[in-house]
Amino acid sequence: MIPTILPSYARAPLSFAKGEGSWLIEDDGRRFLDLGAGIAVNSLGHAHPKLVAVVHEQATKLWHTSNLYNIPSQQALADKLVEHTFADTVFFANSGTEAVECMIKMARKYQSHIGQPERTKIITFDDSFHGRTIGALSAARNTAMTDGFGPMLEGFAKVPRDDLAAVEAQIDGQTAAILVEPVQGEGGINVADDPFLKGLRALCEHNGLLLLMDEVQCGNGRTGRLYAHEWSGVTPDIMATAKGLGGGFPIGACLATERAASGMGPGSHGSTFGGNPLACAVACAVIDTITAPGFLDEVNRKAGLFRQKLEGLVASHPDVFTTVRGQGLMLGLVCKVPVMDLVNAGYDAQVLSVPAANNVLRLIPPLTISEDEIAQGVARLDKAANAAALQPPSSAKEQP
Ligand SMILES: *Cc1c(COP(=O)(O)O)cnc(C)c1O
Repeated sequence: MIPTILPSYARAPLSFAKGEGSWLIEDDGRRFLDLGAGIAVNSLGHAHPKLVAVVHEQATKLWHTSNLYNIPSQQALADKLVEHTFADTVFFANSGTEAVECMIKMARKYQSHIGQPERTKIITFDDSFHGRTIGALSAARNTAMTDGFGPMLEGFAKVPRDDLAAVEAQIDGQTAAILVEPVQGEGGINVADDPFLKGLRALCEHNGLLLLMDEVQCGNGRTGRLYAHEWSGVTPDIMATAKGLGGGFPIGACLATERAASGMGPGSHGSTFGGNPLACAVACAVIDTITAPGFLDEVNRKAGLFRQKLEGLVASHPDVFTTVRGQGLMLGLVCKVPVMDLVNAGYDAQVLSVPAANNVLRLIPPLTISEDEIAQGVARLDKAANAAALQPPSSAKEQP
């Protein structure tokens, strides 16, 4: 009989009753160090006092009104995002994939609005992930995720990562935009280097294309800057973000320049729930915290420490790990043993991590993780690595 919850997830046999900072706690009191943060969502950890207070306060006042009316906390959040980024304007959604969907629509609308409706094609990259709507699946074209759900949408062309010549070869009179993750998360923590992003920007300038960035996972302080593209100095025309933005409350956002958004007048896009008062109040508190003086300096300091310890871990387990990669607190360990063996051994060692494609173990802890917790996390990963090294090869299981 089919489970009452649609069986679309392969879940670990764990369930948590409570969260405290970097820790998740089971009913029986067992404490797990959370180096996954709900897939880069709990940016300020669990039950952050400031976020708890904001939710309490807003919950007693007003949850939802719809976008038929002005929403002061939505206005405040948009103003903060515009103040701190390249963007002039923001659309609010409820998830990453919806933010990406808005970005795709906006890019096509821009070209149509300036009199080039034939420009609909968007160039995307191998190993990318943009979400699970048909639009986002069509952009990433990962056959494991699209199989049986076709037909996918036309108008996307996927090329190898870090290959400017391949991008250039795809540009023609039908091309509208290039869509890139500055750091790929699901794809295995792949950092796009500065020359590549600069090259994409130049190709966009020369060919009248928009540069779209998916910062759903790498945004909101994750890499040590508010948005990951800031490291390169390259700015997008449109950017999607979500995950860490609400600190655990669902919210997504599509940020754009005035020019890129010029086709999006009244009626062009919408969402019933998007940008509701509760979500925006929480996200305002998240953005205030991340942009407070010194917060990102601390993220970078702790990220350096974490990375250094992980280099040590890799060096002491040459049979388990190949290398460390990533940026800020978005780190990946490339594994030699099946990554799920490590994730599962981590459960026994009471440390949570997240698998990514290409056999990478993803470490994306709360940005508020302490030095001591980093040390404990690496000690637990060391234990997990010892256990995984002992697994017979026949136990090799592919990640779901
Ligand atoms: C998670 C993710 C998405 C999809 O976000 P959802 O909130 O799951 O819809 C899109 N793009 C990237 C880069 C992501 O990591």
